[in-house]
Amino acid sequence: MKTAPTLVSACLLGSRCRYDGASKPVGLTGVEKTLPVCPEVMAGFGVPRPAIERGVDGRVRILSTGQDVTAELVRASANIVALAQKAGVTEAVLKARSPSCGSRQIKRGGQVVNGSGVLTDALQQAGIAVRSEEEIA
Ligand code: SF4
Repeated sequence: MKTAPTLVSACLLGSRCRYDGASKPVGLTGVEKTLPVCPEVMAGFGVPRPAIERGVDGRVRILSTGQDVTAELVRASANIVALAQKAGVTEAVLKARSPSCGSRQIKRGGQVVNGSGVLTDALQQAGIAVRSEEEIA
């Protein structure tokens, strides 16, 4: 039987796609086949890019300018959901506390608060289970 891949934040697999051009590689024990994605790169934000934050209203804005980039991120997340569904993905491992990939908490105003990222919300709405790399360590 063909095993469906696990959708994974690309930065966790060593891709230098974070806003500052860094990666956050971790060992993903038990994850055999992966489908790497970076919603912020797929949204066209580039690398490096200005840091973004998700507000209490659920909107995502560039921290330095206040520009609202929610629509781009929502569109990229919908494309990723479609990609995941096509590949038969049922679970994802996404980077903790990111405004796009966070699953239980996100950073806001320099604090860690309860909340989730835009991609996480889209995947969960499509019935795809999301955990962070810290939950599978
Ligand atoms: S946390 Fe998500 S959006 Fe940020 S670099 Fe990693 S994959 Fe891209």
